[in-house]
Amino acid sequence: MIHLENIVKTYKVGTQEVRALRSVSIDIYKGEYVAIMGASGSGKSTLMNIIGCLDTPTSGTYVLNAKDVSSLSDDSLAEIRNSEIGFVFQVFNLLPRNSALENVMLPLVYAGKRKAERKKMAEETLVDVGLQDRMEHKPNELSGGQRQRVAIARALVNKPALLLADEPTGNLDSKISEEIMKLFAEIHRKGNTLVMVTHEEEIALHAHRVIRLKDGEVESDIINEDPIY
Ligand code: ADP
Ligand code: ADP
Repeated sequence: MIHLENIVKTYKVGTQEVRALRSVSIDIYKGEYVAIMGASGSGKSTLMNIIGCLDTPTSGTYVLNAKDVSSLSDDSLAEIRNSEIGFVFQVFNLLPRNSALENVMLPLVYAGKRKAERKKMAEETLVDVGLQDRMEHKPNELSGGQRQRVAIARALVNKPALLLADEPTGNLDSKISEEIMKLFAEIHRKGNTLVMVTHEEEIALHAHRVIRLKDGEVESDIINEDPIY
């Protein structure tokens, strides 16, 4: 599903060049559950931005779902993001004045679905994440864990091929983080492909494969034989 070959990303800072990714080659198959780890500055966000089609590499090849997306225009990248990728961030980015249901319906507006269908799909997805009793609540009427569930439902409602999560438990206490990891395990069992960035070892142990970055390179890439759940 994801084929990254010799990916290099450099940023220009004044006259200096910062090499955020040096030569990263990774393949991720459909249905995998991968954690990306590494110290601050090792290139995790840069790699996620490239995998998520938020940014393009300086050089190298990125093939996503059999499409070469290495050097597409911003518009084409946006289209791929909207149709094929669901994002979960550390900050939930929910619309504060809208209900959980309305927040989850929103991505379907861009997908051109009719209102009745948007409502039905959003309701089903909220049931899937265990929020059947909270659909009419606004974000400030929900707990942190429930808000993250709304954000996860919003990421999944379009049935994307790939779910990307950047520090999905970064703002949550350990009990609620565990609940979110249980939900991720269910999402994975249903056949979704998950890639998450985390700096927490306990969180990474839920994934079935752990890739560690160091100074913009893959330091190790290990199958987790004994994932939690
Ligand atoms: P991580 O997410 O692992 O903390 P990043 O991908 O954010 O790492 O950063 C990798 C390297 O690239 C760091 O040295 C960082 O300072 C640099 N970097 C990241 N984003 C930018 C940017 N927009 N401009 C310049 N340098 C950047
Ligand atoms: P970090 O991993 O350094 O803590 P964040 O988790 O805030 O950084 O964001 C990681 C990257 O994801 C950022 O470089 C940013 O460009 C992108 N990002 C974060 N939130 C959004 C969003 N709502 N929409 C699009 N891109 C986002």
